[in-house]
Amino acid sequence: MSQEAGLTSAQSCRHHPQRPVAALCQKYGHGLCADCLENHPHCPDPDIFCRHRPQCIIHHQYKEALRSNRTNDQAQGSQP
Ligand SMILES: [Zn+2]
Repeated sequence: MSQEAGLTSAQSCRHHPQRPVAALCQKYGHGLCADCLENHPHCPDPDIFCRHRPQCIIHHQYKEALRSNRTNDQAQGSQP
């Protein structure tokens, strides 16, 4: 159960440390750049309550991606 998040000093993309973030997961403190947010939005806990969710851009984009592209191979878990 160890998160290797480490220090989150600067707000940079989780996958592209050199890019500025376009959206930030306030629960886990990791950010996504505009490119990642557009193409690979990922909410760590899409089904668990998150008090930041109402204003979370990542989760919004995540749900939009699921709706618009249901054949995405990245889908994890079970689909009803
Ligand atoms: Zn990125």
